Amino acid sequence: MAKEKENELMEKVVSLCKRRGFIFQGSEIYGGLAGTFDYGDLGGELLHNIKNSWWKKFVSSRRDMYGIRAAILMNSKVWEASGHVAGFADPMVECNKCKRRFRADQLDPNLQEICPECNGTLGTPRQFNMMFKTQIGAMEDSSSTVYLRPETAQGIFSNFKNTVDAYHPKLPFGMAQIGKAFRNEITPRDFIFRCREFEQMEIEYFVREADWQKYFEYFKDQMNEWMEDIGIDMSKVHELEVAKEDLAHYSKRTVDFEFDYPFGKKELFGLAYRGNFDLTNHKLEYVDDLPAQTGEIGEKIIPHVIEPSFGVDRAFLALFLSAYTEDDSGEETRVFLKFKPKMAPILACVSPLLKNKPELVEYAEMKVFAPLKSEFGRIAYDDNGNIGKRYRKQDEIGTPWCIVVDFDTLTDDSVTIRDRDTGTQERVKVSDLSKFIKERLD
Ligand code: ATP
Repeated sequence: MAKEKENELMEKVVSLCKRRGFIFQGSEIYGGLAGTFDYGDLGGELLHNIKNSWWKKFVSSRRDMYGIRAAILMNSKVWEASGHVAGFADPMVECNKCKRRFRADQLDPNLQEICPECNGTLGTPRQFNMMFKTQIGAMEDSSSTVYLRPETAQGIFSNFKNTVDAYHPKLPFGMAQIGKAFRNEITPRDFIFRCREFEQMEIEYFVREADWQKYFEYFKDQMNEWMEDIGIDMSKVHELEVAKEDLAHYSKRTVDFEFDYPFGKKELFGLAYRGNFDLTNHKLEYVDDLPAQTGEIGEKIIPHVIEPSFGVDRAFLALFLSAYTEDDSGEETRVFLKFKPKMAPILACVSPLLKNKPELVEYAEMKVFAPLKSEFGRIAYDDNGNIGKRYRKQDEIGTPWCIVVDFDTLTDDSVTIRDRDTGTQERVKVSDLSKFIKERLD
Protein backbone atom coordinates (compact mmCIF):
# COMPACT_ATOMS: atom_id res chain seq x y z
CA MET A 1 0.00 0.00 0.00
CA ALA A 2 2.77 2.42 1.02
CA LYS A 3 4.56 1.52 -2.22
CA GLU A 4 1.42 2.29 -4.24
CA LYS A 5 1.13 5.70 -2.59
CA GLU A 6 4.76 6.45 -3.39
CA ASN A 7 4.30 5.47 -7.04
CA GLU A 8 1.16 7.56 -7.10
CA LEU A 9 3.05 10.61 -5.84
CA MET A 10 5.73 10.18 -8.49
CA GLU A 11 3.04 9.83 -11.19
CA LYS A 12 1.35 13.00 -9.98
CA VAL A 13 4.64 14.91 -10.03
CA VAL A 14 5.59 13.69 -13.52
CA SER A 15 2.14 14.53 -14.84
CA LEU A 16 2.12 17.99 -13.22
CA CYS A 17 5.57 18.69 -14.67
CA LYS A 18 4.30 17.91 -18.16
CA ARG A 19 0.85 19.51 -17.89
CA ARG A 20 2.12 22.79 -16.55
CA GLY A 21 5.21 22.97 -18.79
CA PHE A 22 8.07 22.22 -16.38
CA ILE A 23 9.56 19.08 -17.96
CA PHE A 24 8.88 17.05 -21.10
CA GLN A 25 10.29 13.72 -22.28
CA GLY A 26 13.21 14.39 -24.65
CA SER A 27 12.38 13.99 -28.39
CA GLU A 28 8.79 13.20 -27.43
CA ILE A 29 7.31 13.75 -30.90
CA TYR A 30 9.46 10.85 -32.15
CA GLY A 31 8.61 8.50 -29.31
CA GLY A 32 11.21 9.88 -26.90
CA LEU A 33 14.85 9.14 -26.24
CA ALA A 34 15.44 7.25 -22.98
CA GLY A 35 17.30 9.17 -20.31
CA THR A 36 16.81 12.62 -21.85
CA PHE A 37 14.45 15.40 -20.78
CA ASP A 38 13.57 18.87 -22.03
CA TYR A 39 12.76 21.67 -19.60
CA GLY A 40 9.92 23.99 -20.61
CA ASP A 41 9.58 27.66 -19.76
CA LEU A 42 8.71 27.20 -16.07
CA GLY A 43 11.15 24.32 -15.56
CA GLY A 44 13.89 26.39 -17.15
CA GLU A 45 13.10 29.27 -14.81
CA LEU A 46 13.32 26.99 -11.77
CA LEU A 47 16.61 25.54 -13.02
CA HIS A 48 17.89 29.06 -13.50
CA ASN A 49 16.97 29.99 -9.91
CA ILE A 50 18.69 26.88 -8.55
CA LYS A 51 21.89 27.55 -10.51
CA ASN A 52 21.89 31.28 -9.71
CA SER A 53 21.45 30.68 -6.02
CA TRP A 54 24.26 28.08 -6.06
CA TRP A 55 26.62 30.33 -8.03
CA LYS A 56 25.92 33.24 -5.70
CA LYS A 57 26.53 31.25 -2.52
CA PHE A 58 29.54 29.24 -3.64
CA VAL A 59 31.22 31.50 -6.21
CA SER A 60 30.31 35.14 -6.74
CA SER A 61 29.86 36.09 -3.06
CA ARG A 62 33.30 34.67 -2.16
CA ARG A 63 36.82 35.95 -2.66
CA ASP A 64 38.43 32.51 -2.91
CA MET A 65 36.46 31.03 -5.82
CA TYR A 66 37.12 31.14 -9.55
CA GLY A 67 34.50 30.14 -12.10
CA ILE A 68 35.28 28.26 -15.29
CA ARG A 69 33.22 27.35 -18.36
CA ALA A 70 35.24 24.60 -19.96
CA ALA A 71 34.47 23.01 -23.32
CA ILE A 72 32.46 19.80 -23.16
CA LEU A 73 34.74 18.13 -25.71
CA MET A 74 38.26 17.68 -24.37
CA ASN A 75 41.40 15.93 -25.54
CA SER A 76 40.89 12.25 -24.68
CA LYS A 77 44.20 12.28 -22.80
CA VAL A 78 42.28 14.11 -20.04
CA TRP A 79 40.08 11.03 -19.57
CA GLU A 80 43.02 8.64 -19.77
CA ALA A 81 44.86 10.57 -17.04
CA SER A 82 41.75 10.89 -14.86
CA GLY A 83 41.20 7.14 -14.90
CA HIS A 84 37.83 7.34 -16.65
CA VAL A 85 38.88 5.47 -19.81
CA ALA A 86 40.07 2.54 -17.73
CA GLY A 87 37.69 2.68 -14.80
CA PHE A 88 34.47 4.66 -15.30
CA ALA A 89 32.35 1.59 -15.65
CA ASP A 90 29.35 -0.08 -14.07
CA PRO A 91 28.83 -3.86 -13.94
CA MET A 92 26.24 -4.82 -16.56
CA VAL A 93 24.30 -8.05 -17.03
CA GLU A 94 22.19 -9.07 -20.01
CA CYS A 95 19.13 -11.31 -19.95
CA ASN A 96 19.68 -14.35 -22.18
CA LYS A 97 15.97 -14.42 -23.06
CA CYS A 98 14.67 -10.82 -23.52
CA LYS A 99 18.14 -9.27 -24.05
CA ARG A 100 17.38 -6.40 -21.66
CA ARG A 101 20.37 -5.02 -19.79
CA PHE A 102 20.61 -4.20 -16.09
CA ARG A 103 23.13 -2.80 -13.64
CA ALA A 104 24.31 -5.84 -11.68
CA ASP A 105 24.79 -3.83 -8.48
CA GLN A 106 21.17 -2.63 -8.56
CA LEU A 107 19.56 -6.07 -8.74
CA ASP A 108 17.90 -7.74 -5.78
CA PRO A 109 20.83 -9.49 -4.03
CA ASN A 110 18.69 -12.63 -3.54
CA LEU A 111 17.70 -12.84 -7.22
CA GLN A 112 21.00 -12.01 -8.91
CA GLU A 113 20.59 -14.46 -11.79
CA ILE A 114 16.94 -13.86 -12.66
CA CYS A 115 15.74 -11.18 -15.07
CA PRO A 116 13.38 -8.80 -13.22
CA GLU A 117 11.40 -8.24 -16.44
CA CYS A 118 10.85 -11.74 -17.92
CA ASN A 119 12.27 -14.17 -15.33
CA GLY A 120 14.84 -15.39 -17.89
CA THR A 121 18.40 -16.14 -16.79
CA LEU A 122 20.95 -13.37 -16.62
CA GLY A 123 24.45 -13.70 -18.07
CA THR A 124 27.67 -12.99 -16.16
CA PRO A 125 28.36 -9.35 -15.27
CA ARG A 126 30.83 -7.43 -17.42
CA GLN A 127 32.18 -3.93 -17.06
CA PHE A 128 30.46 -1.33 -19.21
CA ASN A 129 32.17 2.05 -19.69
CA MET A 130 29.62 4.82 -19.32
CA MET A 131 31.34 7.49 -21.39
CA PHE A 132 29.77 8.45 -24.71
CA LYS A 133 32.39 8.13 -27.40
CA THR A 134 32.41 10.01 -30.69
CA GLN A 135 34.82 11.08 -33.42
CA ILE A 136 36.19 14.52 -34.09
CA GLY A 137 37.05 15.58 -37.65
CA ALA A 138 36.88 13.52 -40.81
CA MET A 139 39.21 10.63 -39.89
CA GLU A 140 37.71 7.72 -37.99
CA ASP A 141 40.75 6.36 -36.19
CA SER A 142 41.71 6.15 -32.53
CA SER A 143 43.44 9.53 -32.63
CA SER A 144 40.11 11.21 -33.40
CA THR A 145 38.20 9.66 -30.49
CA VAL A 146 36.63 12.14 -28.10
CA TYR A 147 34.28 11.63 -25.19
CA LEU A 148 31.34 13.68 -23.99
CA ARG A 149 32.44 14.61 -20.48
CA PRO A 150 30.92 12.39 -17.78
CA GLU A 151 31.64 15.02 -15.10
CA THR A 152 32.45 18.72 -15.05
CA ALA A 153 35.33 18.22 -12.58
CA GLN A 154 37.96 17.41 -15.20
CA GLY A 155 37.28 20.70 -17.02
CA ILE A 156 38.28 22.34 -13.74
CA PHE A 157 41.50 20.35 -13.22
CA SER A 158 42.55 20.92 -16.83
CA ASN A 159 42.33 24.66 -16.21
CA PHE A 160 44.11 24.62 -12.85
CA LYS A 161 47.37 25.94 -14.29
CA ASN A 162 45.63 28.57 -16.42
CA THR A 163 43.73 29.85 -13.41
CA VAL A 164 46.80 29.93 -11.17
CA ASP A 165 48.82 31.74 -13.85
CA ALA A 166 46.06 34.25 -14.58
CA TYR A 167 44.87 35.10 -11.07
CA HIS A 168 47.70 33.96 -8.70
CA PRO A 169 45.29 32.63 -6.06
CA LYS A 170 46.65 31.70 -2.63
CA LEU A 171 45.74 28.40 -0.97
CA PRO A 172 43.11 27.54 -0.02
CA PHE A 173 41.06 28.46 -3.09
CA GLY A 174 38.44 26.84 -5.24
CA MET A 175 37.35 26.55 -8.83
CA ALA A 176 33.73 25.99 -9.82
CA GLN A 177 31.77 25.03 -12.89
CA ILE A 178 28.16 24.49 -13.87
CA GLY A 179 27.56 22.50 -17.00
CA LYS A 180 26.25 19.47 -18.80
CA ALA A 181 27.58 15.97 -18.17
CA PHE A 182 26.79 12.78 -20.08
CA ARG A 183 26.72 9.19 -18.92
CA ASN A 184 25.54 6.22 -20.92
CA GLU A 185 23.57 4.90 -17.94
CA ILE A 186 22.61 1.24 -18.39
CA THR A 187 19.18 1.81 -16.89
CA PRO A 188 18.11 5.46 -16.86
CA ARG A 189 15.08 5.66 -14.59
CA ASP A 190 13.04 7.47 -12.00
CA PHE A 191 12.25 10.52 -14.12
CA ILE A 192 15.08 13.10 -13.97
CA PHE A 193 16.89 11.24 -11.16
CA ARG A 194 19.04 9.15 -13.49
CA CYS A 195 19.44 10.62 -16.96
CA ARG A 196 21.98 10.14 -19.72
CA GLU A 197 22.36 13.88 -20.18
CA PHE A 198 22.24 16.02 -17.05
CA GLU A 199 23.78 19.05 -15.42
CA GLN A 200 26.27 19.31 -12.60
CA MET A 201 27.49 22.09 -10.33
CA GLU A 202 30.93 21.20 -9.03
CA ILE A 203 33.66 22.77 -6.93
CA GLU A 204 37.24 21.64 -6.61
CA TYR A 205 38.61 23.29 -3.48
CA PHE A 206 42.41 23.18 -3.26
CA VAL A 207 43.96 22.95 0.20
CA ARG A 208 47.20 21.99 1.89
CA GLU A 209 47.10 18.31 2.84
CA ALA A 210 47.13 19.02 6.58
CA ASP A 211 43.92 21.06 6.26
CA TRP A 212 41.71 18.62 4.35
CA GLN A 213 39.56 17.50 7.30
CA LYS A 214 38.80 21.05 8.33
CA TYR A 215 37.58 21.97 4.83
CA PHE A 216 35.71 18.71 4.38
CA GLU A 217 33.64 19.53 7.49
CA TYR A 218 33.28 23.15 6.37
CA PHE A 219 31.84 22.20 2.98
CA LYS A 220 29.56 19.61 4.55
CA ASP A 221 28.02 22.47 6.55
CA GLN A 222 27.90 24.76 3.52
CA MET A 223 26.09 22.11 1.47
CA ASN A 224 23.50 21.61 4.21
CA GLU A 225 23.06 25.37 4.50
CA TRP A 226 22.43 25.77 0.77
CA MET A 227 19.92 22.90 0.61
CA GLU A 228 17.97 24.41 3.48
CA ASP A 229 18.21 27.89 2.01
CA ILE A 230 16.62 26.93 -1.31
CA GLY A 231 13.83 25.01 0.42
CA ILE A 232 14.77 21.32 0.26
CA ASP A 233 12.94 19.45 3.05
CA MET A 234 15.86 18.74 5.40
CA SER A 235 13.93 16.05 7.27
CA LYS A 236 14.31 13.99 4.07
CA VAL A 237 18.07 14.54 3.69
CA HIS A 238 20.48 12.04 5.22
CA GLU A 239 24.26 11.93 5.28
CA LEU A 240 25.83 8.61 4.40
CA GLU A 241 29.50 7.96 5.14
CA VAL A 242 30.49 5.85 2.12
CA ALA A 243 32.24 2.63 3.16
CA LYS A 244 35.93 2.30 2.13
CA GLU A 245 35.19 -0.59 -0.25
CA ASP A 246 32.51 1.44 -2.07
CA LEU A 247 34.59 4.57 -2.65
CA ALA A 248 35.11 5.80 -6.24
CA HIS A 249 38.58 5.20 -7.67
CA TYR A 250 39.74 8.74 -6.85
CA SER A 251 38.20 9.18 -3.40
CA LYS A 252 39.76 8.90 0.05
CA ARG A 253 36.57 9.86 1.86
CA THR A 254 33.05 10.49 0.57
CA VAL A 255 29.85 11.58 2.23
CA ASP A 256 26.73 11.15 0.12
CA PHE A 257 23.75 13.34 0.85
CA GLU A 258 20.75 11.11 0.29
CA PHE A 259 17.14 12.17 -0.16
CA ASP A 260 13.91 10.29 0.56
CA TYR A 261 12.50 10.20 -2.98
CA PRO A 262 9.15 8.41 -3.48
CA PHE A 263 11.18 5.59 -5.10
CA GLY A 264 13.54 5.22 -2.14
CA LYS A 265 16.42 6.81 -0.27
CA LYS A 266 18.99 7.63 -2.94
CA GLU A 267 21.87 9.99 -3.65
CA LEU A 268 21.19 13.67 -4.03
CA PHE A 269 24.69 15.20 -3.88
CA GLY A 270 28.17 14.05 -2.91
CA LEU A 271 31.16 15.43 -1.05
CA ALA A 272 34.50 13.77 -1.76
CA TYR A 273 38.07 14.13 -0.60
CA ARG A 274 39.99 13.38 -3.78
CA GLY A 275 43.46 13.67 -2.19
CA ASN A 276 45.85 14.91 -4.87
CA PHE A 277 44.85 12.14 -7.28
CA ASP A 278 43.84 14.39 -10.18
CA LEU A 279 46.56 17.03 -10.01
CA THR A 280 49.17 14.25 -9.71
CA ASN A 281 47.78 12.40 -12.73
CA HIS A 282 47.65 15.58 -14.81
CA LYS A 283 51.22 16.37 -13.63
CA LEU A 284 50.18 19.72 -12.17
CA GLU A 285 51.73 21.49 -9.21
CA TYR A 286 51.57 24.72 -7.28
CA VAL A 287 54.24 27.00 -5.90
CA ASP A 288 53.29 27.61 -2.29
CA ASP A 289 54.19 30.91 -0.73
CA LEU A 290 54.11 29.39 2.76
CA PRO A 291 56.94 27.24 4.11
CA ALA A 292 54.84 24.09 4.12
CA GLN A 293 56.72 20.84 4.52
CA THR A 294 60.41 21.55 3.99
CA GLY A 295 60.38 24.98 5.57
CA GLU A 296 61.35 26.56 2.27
CA ILE A 297 59.39 29.42 0.77
CA GLY A 298 58.43 28.77 -2.82
CA GLU A 299 58.20 25.04 -2.35
CA LYS A 300 56.38 23.10 -5.10
CA ILE A 301 53.48 21.14 -3.71
CA ILE A 302 50.52 19.24 -5.13
CA PRO A 303 47.44 20.63 -3.37
CA HIS A 304 44.77 18.26 -2.08
CA VAL A 305 41.17 18.60 -3.14
CA ILE A 306 37.75 18.70 -1.50
CA GLU A 307 34.97 18.23 -4.05
CA PRO A 308 31.36 19.23 -3.34
CA SER A 309 29.39 17.87 -6.28
CA PHE A 310 25.75 18.69 -7.03
CA GLY A 311 23.38 17.40 -9.71
CA VAL A 312 21.15 20.22 -10.94
CA ASP A 313 18.37 17.85 -12.04
CA ARG A 314 18.39 16.02 -8.71
CA ALA A 315 18.28 19.40 -6.92
CA PHE A 316 15.24 20.23 -9.09
CA LEU A 317 13.53 16.95 -8.22
CA ALA A 318 14.24 17.22 -4.47
CA LEU A 319 13.05 20.82 -4.42
CA PHE A 320 9.91 19.98 -6.41
CA LEU A 321 9.07 17.03 -4.12
CA SER A 322 9.73 19.17 -1.04
CA ALA A 323 7.39 21.87 -2.34
CA TYR A 324 4.59 19.56 -3.55
CA THR A 325 1.63 19.94 -1.19
CA GLU A 326 -1.93 18.63 -1.21
CA ASP A 327 -4.50 20.42 0.92
CA ASP A 328 -7.59 18.27 1.57
CA SER A 329 -9.33 20.68 3.92
CA GLY A 330 -11.73 22.08 1.29
CA GLU A 331 -14.30 20.40 -0.95
CA GLU A 332 -11.67 19.68 -3.59
CA THR A 333 -8.05 18.74 -3.03
CA ARG A 334 -5.93 21.82 -3.61
CA VAL A 335 -2.46 21.12 -5.02
CA PHE A 336 0.22 23.74 -4.62
CA LEU A 337 3.99 24.01 -4.84
CA LYS A 338 5.28 25.69 -1.73
CA PHE A 339 8.41 27.21 -3.28
CA LYS A 340 10.20 29.94 -1.38
CA PRO A 341 9.44 33.18 -3.27
CA LYS A 342 13.06 33.58 -4.37
CA MET A 343 12.96 30.13 -6.03
CA ALA A 344 9.45 30.27 -7.55
CA PRO A 345 9.48 30.40 -11.37
CA ILE A 346 6.80 33.12 -11.27
CA LEU A 347 6.80 35.60 -8.40
CA ALA A 348 3.33 37.02 -8.86
CA CYS A 349 0.41 36.80 -11.27
CA VAL A 350 -1.57 39.95 -12.09
CA SER A 351 -5.24 39.72 -13.18
CA PRO A 352 -8.15 42.02 -13.77
CA LEU A 353 -11.21 40.75 -11.88
CA LEU A 354 -13.14 40.67 -15.19
CA LYS A 355 -11.54 40.62 -18.59
CA ASN A 356 -14.46 42.30 -20.38
CA LYS A 357 -14.13 45.54 -18.38
CA PRO A 358 -11.62 47.69 -20.29
CA GLU A 359 -10.99 50.01 -17.33
CA LEU A 360 -9.92 47.06 -15.15
CA VAL A 361 -7.82 45.54 -17.95
CA GLU A 362 -6.06 48.80 -18.67
CA TYR A 363 -5.29 49.42 -15.01
CA ALA A 364 -4.05 45.84 -14.51
CA GLU A 365 -1.84 45.89 -17.60
CA MET A 366 -0.43 49.41 -17.42
CA LYS A 367 -0.29 50.30 -13.75
CA VAL A 368 0.36 46.93 -12.12
CA PHE A 369 1.74 44.35 -14.53
CA ALA A 370 4.05 46.52 -16.67
CA PRO A 371 6.04 48.15 -13.81
CA LEU A 372 6.36 44.87 -11.86
CA LYS A 373 7.38 42.98 -14.99
CA SER A 374 10.10 45.46 -15.82
CA GLU A 375 11.39 45.39 -12.24
CA PHE A 376 11.23 41.66 -11.44
CA GLY A 377 10.90 39.89 -14.79
CA ARG A 378 9.21 36.79 -13.34
CA ILE A 379 5.65 38.26 -13.32
CA ALA A 380 2.72 36.66 -15.17
CA TYR A 381 -0.48 38.17 -16.53
CA ASP A 382 -3.59 36.02 -16.67
CA ASP A 383 -7.14 36.96 -17.56
CA ASN A 384 -8.37 33.53 -18.64
CA GLY A 385 -11.36 31.81 -17.06
CA ASN A 386 -12.61 32.82 -13.64
CA ILE A 387 -10.54 33.87 -10.65
CA GLY A 388 -10.83 30.43 -9.02
CA LYS A 389 -9.32 28.75 -12.09
CA ARG A 390 -6.50 31.28 -12.23
CA TYR A 391 -5.68 30.66 -8.56
CA ARG A 392 -5.65 26.89 -9.13
CA LYS A 393 -3.23 27.23 -12.02
CA GLN A 394 -0.89 29.58 -10.15
CA ASP A 395 -1.00 27.28 -7.08
CA GLU A 396 0.08 24.36 -9.26
CA ILE A 397 3.07 26.24 -10.60
CA GLY A 398 4.02 27.60 -7.17
CA THR A 399 3.33 31.32 -7.67
CA PRO A 400 3.42 32.88 -4.18
CA TRP A 401 1.02 35.76 -4.88
CA CYS A 402 -1.96 36.49 -7.11
CA ILE A 403 -2.69 40.18 -7.49
CA VAL A 404 -6.22 41.14 -8.52
CA VAL A 405 -7.37 44.51 -9.82
CA ASP A 406 -11.07 45.09 -9.01
CA PHE A 407 -13.54 47.99 -9.13
CA ASP A 408 -12.32 49.41 -5.79
CA THR A 409 -8.82 49.64 -7.28
CA LEU A 410 -10.04 52.34 -9.65
CA THR A 411 -10.84 54.59 -6.71
CA ASP A 412 -8.44 53.55 -3.93
CA ASP A 413 -5.36 52.47 -5.97
CA SER A 414 -5.15 49.27 -3.92
CA VAL A 415 -5.22 45.64 -5.07
CA THR A 416 -6.03 42.32 -3.44
CA ILE A 417 -3.10 40.01 -2.88
CA ARG A 418 -3.94 36.38 -2.33
CA ASP A 419 -1.35 34.22 -0.55
CA ARG A 420 -0.66 30.80 -2.14
CA ASP A 421 -0.05 28.84 1.07
CA THR A 422 -2.86 30.16 3.28
CA GLY A 423 -5.34 31.38 0.66
CA THR A 424 -5.76 34.58 2.73
CA GLN A 425 -6.20 37.92 1.01
CA GLU A 426 -5.04 41.40 1.92
CA ARG A 427 -5.37 44.86 0.40
CA VAL A 428 -2.12 46.53 -0.60
CA LYS A 429 -1.51 49.94 -2.19
CA VAL A 430 -0.31 49.66 -5.78
CA SER A 431 2.58 51.97 -4.89
CA ASP A 432 3.68 49.46 -2.19
CA LEU A 433 3.65 46.35 -4.41
CA SER A 434 7.32 46.42 -5.28
CA LYS A 435 8.25 46.80 -1.59
CA PHE A 436 5.82 44.01 -0.66
CA ILE A 437 7.58 41.58 -3.02
CA LYS A 438 11.15 42.68 -2.25
CA GLU A 439 10.66 42.30 1.49
CA ARG A 440 9.64 38.69 0.99
CA LEU A 441 12.37 37.65 -1.38
CA ASP A 442 15.03 36.66 1.17
P1 ATP B 1 24.91 7.49 -8.66
O1 ATP B 1 25.56 6.64 -7.61
O2 ATP B 1 23.49 7.88 -8.34
O3 ATP B 1 25.07 6.96 -10.05
P2 ATP B 1 27.31 8.99 -8.66
O4 ATP B 1 27.82 8.73 -7.27
O5 ATP B 1 27.88 8.23 -9.79
O6 ATP B 1 25.71 8.88 -8.67
P3 ATP B 1 28.75 11.41 -8.97
O7 ATP B 1 29.68 10.85 -9.95
O8 ATP B 1 29.22 11.64 -7.58
O9 ATP B 1 27.41 10.53 -8.95
O10 ATP B 1 28.12 12.75 -9.59
C1 ATP B 1 27.87 13.90 -8.83
C2 ATP B 1 26.39 14.26 -8.82
O11 ATP B 1 25.89 14.31 -10.17
C3 ATP B 1 25.50 13.26 -8.11
O12 ATP B 1 25.50 13.46 -6.73
C4 ATP B 1 24.17 13.53 -8.75
O13 ATP B 1 23.55 14.67 -8.13
C5 ATP B 1 24.52 13.91 -10.17
N1 ATP B 1 24.34 12.76 -11.08
C6 ATP B 1 25.21 11.73 -11.29
N2 ATP B 1 24.74 10.88 -12.21
C7 ATP B 1 23.54 11.38 -12.62
C8 ATP B 1 22.57 10.97 -13.59
N3 ATP B 1 22.75 9.88 -14.32
N4 ATP B 1 21.47 11.74 -13.75
C9 ATP B 1 21.28 12.87 -13.02
N5 ATP B 1 22.16 13.31 -12.11
C10 ATP B 1 23.28 12.59 -11.90
